[in-house]
Amino acid sequence: VRYAEGKGWYDARVEARAPLPMDPASAVLHYAQEIFEGLKAYPTPDGGVAMFRPDANAARFAQSAARMAMPVVPTELFLASLREIITIDREWMPDSEDGSLYLRPFAFASEVFLGVRPAMEYLYLVIASPVGPYFAGGVQPVSVWVSPDFTRAAPGGTGAAKCGGNYAAGLSAQAEAIAHDCEQVVYLDAVQRTYVDELGGMNVMFVMDDGSLVTPPLSGTILPGITRDSVLRLAERSGRAVQERPVGFDEWRTGAASGRIREVFACGTAAVITPIGTVRHPGGEFTVADGGPGEVTMGLRQELVDIQRGRADDPFGWVHRVR
Ligand code: PMP
Repeated sequence: VRYAEGKGWYDARVEARAPLPMDPASAVLHYAQEIFEGLKAYPTPDGGVAMFRPDANAARFAQSAARMAMPVVPTELFLASLREIITIDREWMPDSEDGSLYLRPFAFASEVFLGVRPAMEYLYLVIASPVGPYFAGGVQPVSVWVSPDFTRAAPGGTGAAKCGGNYAAGLSAQAEAIAHDCEQVVYLDAVQRTYVDELGGMNVMFVMDDGSLVTPPLSGTILPGITRDSVLRLAERSGRAVQERPVGFDEWRTGAASGRIREVFACGTAAVITPIGTVRHPGGEFTVADGGPGEVTMGLRQELVDIQRGRADDPFGWVHRVR
């Protein structure tokens, strides 16, 4: 779908995937005015297909657009574009029990203009890609590296937006994590370098010894994860106490040693919920408990996966049937 100032969104179409012709002076190539989303559609037990909370992705996409001075894709257009791409070819949906269809809506400044101001022309696209199970052979804990050098987002920055630039800026930290044999970075807050913000591509949750769930608040420097929100609402529904408050890295480290923190897990669309195993930092490394999948972590994971795949009731109206 194209956008031009004064004309709005126009020319919606479905095309076979092919390279995009781009002028070398397209604004996005220089100033990175780009946003994206990631969500999944799942096969349901009765042979149908359902998207998980696409309206929440539409809302976050609109917030990202506003932050990046881009035009908002209306919710109806966003949802219609996803439905369209899912129904155009039924063969795309993996019918394996663990498979899903990953959907990647994104928009960028296509105007040919080398000047620093919001562009006046944009493209909005969706690509779809079948994916197998994230974990082949059972859930694996993710290992994390606490970056001493890099932060992800400062107050007033773009941390709450899902824009490509955030990820570009995070690649050095990710390379550092890999060099330390870890899969994901843990970002600390940019101001005090004290509080845990999130991982490179997931939010973080702590299960305390009283069974309550603690997670860093949406302070503007972390991505408001849709899995994060779903986990909080599931926990609340089952009467589990939930706290959104700053968590210092020191609280994590000492809580692991004292047993005050019983489990820690990461959550996001790709892996849904995964335990955090080894936590490596410049001063050493530790695990919470034995670093394996905990009972609360795995219970929440099962509840969420069952709703996503249409195997359990959906009291929240999260599941959008496509067919
Ligand atoms: N934080 C970051 C930086 C991410 O890239 C993601 C993945 N979109 C998340 C958190 C989790 O968000 P969600 O649950 O919406 O996938």
